[in-house]
Amino acid sequence: MAGKTKVMKPDASSISRGASLIKKGEVVAFPTETVYGLGANALDANAVRKIFLLKGRPADNPIIVHVSSIAMLQKIAKVDARALTLAKKCWPGPLTIIFEKKGIMPANVTCGLPTVAVRMPANKAALALIRESGVPIAAPSANISGRPSPTSAMHVLEDFDGKIPLILDGGHTKIGVESTVLSLAGTPRILRLGGFSYEKLKKLIPNLEIAGHPKKIGGPALSPGTKYRHYAPSVPLMLVEKKEFGTFASKLKAGERRVLFFGPNFPKKTIAQLAGQFEYFLYFKDGENAARRLFDELRDSEKKYDRIYFCEIEERGAGRAVMERVRRAAGK
Ligand code: AMP
Ligand code: MG
Repeated sequence: MAGKTKVMKPDASSISRGASLIKKGEVVAFPTETVYGLGANALDANAVRKIFLLKGRPADNPIIVHVSSIAMLQKIAKVDARALTLAKKCWPGPLTIIFEKKGIMPANVTCGLPTVAVRMPANKAALALIRESGVPIAAPSANISGRPSPTSAMHVLEDFDGKIPLILDGGHTKIGVESTVLSLAGTPRILRLGGFSYEKLKKLIPNLEIAGHPKKIGGPALSPGTKYRHYAPSVPLMLVEKKEFGTFASKLKAGERRVLFFGPNFPKKTIAQLAGQFEYFLYFKDGENAARRLFDELRDSEKKYDRIYFCEIEERGAGRAVMERVRRAAGK
């Protein structure tokens, strides 16, 4: 696309503009409750190809398809009774479920896999856009591959100004990390931690497991996207593990502009001792707060500091998804 990128608040006229772009095979960025999506008609292989090109997304990383109704889900996927009950209970919401796909789905959305990942987003503008387009919308996060995901329209503009015709600006996203990806084939397994917490999902699915990292377990990646380095800011992100809280400061280099991200588990008296060593301290009051702000603060901090130090937070609730992102961004 050549020309200017329009940034519009979602209302009847901008949604209708977005829907007609989608129907024409163009790409539109829109807000969801997790992060911003870069959307195209999931049934149009050419439109989907544009998403891969724009993002520089590896060709073996399938895209989540967004629907606005169960009827729309059933057009693209084979849905058994158990998955249907779960979808009805959890949607709209930050839970992506893997289904066996139907023939109507172009091969490039799923990168040739026999399955398709689907969710119904809990965001009015997103739902209205899908409904009015009349087609399921394939949408990965609206960032250049590898960069921190976008949680505001400004982040999308940073990566795609002049490259897409429209960004629907729904303000800062509510959850801030991507959806949880769930497989129901065999033992129910979380393939990617995300906005729907493990604890909450475990209450609905008692035998739920979390898939190990592909590198750790040595096998092929169950969810292809999880094998890539991801979410990384343009300056080094250093993960400070809990066991290093008391000692890491003695190893800091001189003449470096640094910011420290920390949560309630970080000892307060250590903060006082670090006062001269960091230019800025950034406090997350819990996992949910860290999830909401993580990508935004990474994008902001890469402009201001030489290095970002992230002190491990508790791995519960949204804190699990946050720590998974931080490890990957730190190259762990
Ligand atoms: P993103 O769109 O960047 O938020 O990433 C989508 C995630 O869902 C990636 O980790 C993909 O590998 C995963 N995913 C998408 N489709 C499938 C599928 N059919 N089977 C397993 N994982 C999938
Ligand atoms: Mg992404």
